[in-house]
Amino acid sequence: MKNYLNKQSMSLQQGAIRAMFDKAAGMSDIINLGIGEPDMTTPSVIIEAGMKALLDGYTHYTPNAGILELREAVAENLIGQGLKYDPRTEIMITTGGMGGLVMSLMVILEPGDEVLIQDPQWLNYFAQVKFFGGVPVPVPVKEGNGFAITAEAIEARITNKTKVLMLNSPNNPTGAVLDLEELKRISEVAKRHDLIVLSDEVYSTIVYDDTKHLSIATLEGMRERTVVINSFSKSYAMTGWRIGYAAANQKIIDKMTRLQENVVACVNSGAQYAAIEALKRPDLALEMTELYRKRRNLAVEGLQSIEGISCLKPKGSFYVFAGILGIGMDEVTFANELLAQQHVVVIPGSAFGEHGKGYVRICYANSEENLSRAIERVQRYVANKL
Ligand code: PLP
Repeated sequence: MKNYLNKQSMSLQQGAIRAMFDKAAGMSDIINLGIGEPDMTTPSVIIEAGMKALLDGYTHYTPNAGILELREAVAENLIGQGLKYDPRTEIMITTGGMGGLVMSLMVILEPGDEVLIQDPQWLNYFAQVKFFGGVPVPVPVKEGNGFAITAEAIEARITNKTKVLMLNSPNNPTGAVLDLEELKRISEVAKRHDLIVLSDEVYSTIVYDDTKHLSIATLEGMRERTVVINSFSKSYAMTGWRIGYAAANQKIIDKMTRLQENVVACVNSGAQYAAIEALKRPDLALEMTELYRKRRNLAVEGLQSIEGISCLKPKGSFYVFAGILGIGMDEVTFANELLAQQHVVVIPGSAFGEHGKGYVRICYANSEENLSRAIERVQRYVANKL
């Protein structure tokens, strides 16, 4: 029998996050700081709204772009962020943030187009771009600069094939949040080189202290060249509902909607009604962020107290990107041994790109009790090494 799989599928491999999961499967007393998802369940008012819609008979296909009431609620929410989009033509509901990322890449990329992606970055970007024929071009970020991607580093990697810049602020895996000044400089580069920006803002509600989330699409001349991608997964603990949205100019949203029509038809109907309720309750997202803030402080203080480990205090998202070179070992050995000996899952930084070497990603969207226990275990592990 011949091999029926196409060439692109050969690039599909299991990512390092899921691979760590598999390694942990079957082990007892595991503390999993590996996967990037809220530990809490979706707030009950949101669940009830989804259930009610289903019981009321909203069990059918919806418009391909999503139900208008939800798109209108998204448009309202975006106005609050300084972004004005027409809910009828410039907003679509997607299968999580991933749906927005994938659909936009599919309608934008031609084979060989270069896509600038920060390194380290959530690993799915690299796989998605490759699968759709693009060429990921890593843009290193440095701890000394708070892991923020810079306009200078972006511009240095632009060639005549560069088409897309993927931005992710607040960031996974580093927790960096881009400030207005850097965003302005980046927007000038995007305009100068005629780039389209995919702005992945799925952690937009998870920012701490006096840090503000700002979309690059709010800056002069950027709205037309930006696809804003957002999701309910992280902000409302709704990862399993698979719902998010994309906002962009009509031309792009129209093609993404036609693609959705042909691929999945629409997003799950009950999830769309639940999302309307979520948008009515920004207080719920804020409450969760307050919880993450406490957990961030606990994780950062605990990690900083361990000899050989260093980490910045992240400004957003729910990850710490901790340096482990001071222990005198590489990040893969660290993550594997920590799992085998102490039953704590963390992800080697190199899973997020070459420049993640020497770091591990720790997700602190977990209970304070688990975080404290995990820190004790890391302490024990490191003490045996030094
Ligand atoms: N973008 C980033 C940066 C993420 O970290 C994730 C999930 O980890 C996603 C997108 C996907 O989110 P969703 O569950 O909404 O598809």
